[in-house]
Amino acid sequence: MVATANAGKVRELTESLKPLGFELLVQGELGIASLPEVGCTFVENALAKARHAARESGLPAIGDDSGLVVPALGGAPGIRSARYAGEPADDERNNAKLRRTLAAHANAGGRGHRDAFFTCTLVYLGAPDDPAPLIATGRWHGTIIDSPRGHNGFGYDPLFLVAELGKTAAELTVAEKNRLSHRGRACRRLAALLESA
Ligand code: IMP
Repeated sequence: MVATANAGKVRELTESLKPLGFELLVQGELGIASLPEVGCTFVENALAKARHAARESGLPAIGDDSGLVVPALGGAPGIRSARYAGEPADDERNNAKLRRTLAAHANAGGRGHRDAFFTCTLVYLGAPDDPAPLIATGRWHGTIIDSPRGHNGFGYDPLFLVAELGKTAAELTVAEKNRLSHRGRACRRLAALLESA
């Protein structure tokens, strides 16, 4: 059971966990409502989502939380990445706000302000009261550019430049992104933890 309604995330998880013979069911498809994100950290949110999904489904569950962190902006958008520009969640408005905020920061003399990383935390619970969750995280470092490029992916991908490829995340294929991304890394780490558990 995966505590998400995001089809892209499910595709990536399914791919990474396939060798272990897991069958992934998606929370939304079982009619389980998603939980509001109220934690202060990605790991708190991922744990709360996994616990909720395990309790409602009676199955082992994986919770996921991810976002973009810009250290020069005090970690923003951070855990508020999906709703950085307010409700309802909207990628275009979020990207516009990020570009405006970074431009204002540069004008105020901020140094190194365009460095950023995506982060993803995955939490596996065997049961809602499992006292020993498996926790895997992954990071992906890059630079935020001012003009969006590319049409693949989602969220902040068109603004996230991957230095070694000279491309934004939105200019990568799904396979290329999965090989490098925070979520791809976290999935592979979780798969390794599950295998050795
Ligand atoms: P979540 O569903 O709470 O994990 O929210 C994740 C939010 O972080 C998304 O709505 C995006 O704004 C951002 N985000 C997370 N991962 C990615 C990614 O791979 N590319 C672009 N944006 C991402």
